[in-house]
Amino acid sequence: MAKSLEDLQRQCHRVMIAYWRVAQRKFPSLVGVPMPELKFNLRGRAVGRATYRAGNRLHQTTIALKNEYLLSNTVEMFNDTIPHEVSHIIAGVLFRSTGHDGPWRQVMAAFGLKAQRFTYTNFIPDEVKLRVAMKGQKHD
Ligand SMILES: [Zn+2]
Repeated sequence: MAKSLEDLQRQCHRVMIAYWRVAQRKFPSLVGVPMPELKFNLRGRAVGRATYRAGNRLHQTTIALKNEYLLSNTVEMFNDTIPHEVSHIIAGVLFRSTGHDGPWRQVMAAFGLKAQRFTYTNFIPDEVKLRVAMKGQKHD
């Protein structure tokens, strides 16, 4: 039976939390930083977008995801888009990163992900346990 959009959105939360926990183990200074708010209101070409203020640990951070992509490319959303955007948040908050720069690549590497806009996932947190598919998609 197909999962509902609401089920998939709840699963996105669990995936984000799983990556956040991995990051907390790799970057202890992340402890105490609030997790991003997850929204599903993204329009346009991008499938995910991270909003943060670089270097501001207390600032509200947001990850916006695209519902249509979640429905059509669920595995890529979980294994690629979400860790990509989580990496933007963490790199921005901890290392004043902007864009796909060195600190962002460092966080991606900590997840075992290739640091490129179109990523191939070769690491999956135990909590997620999904198989991997490869497909290039636009990120912001
Ligand atoms: Zn990006």
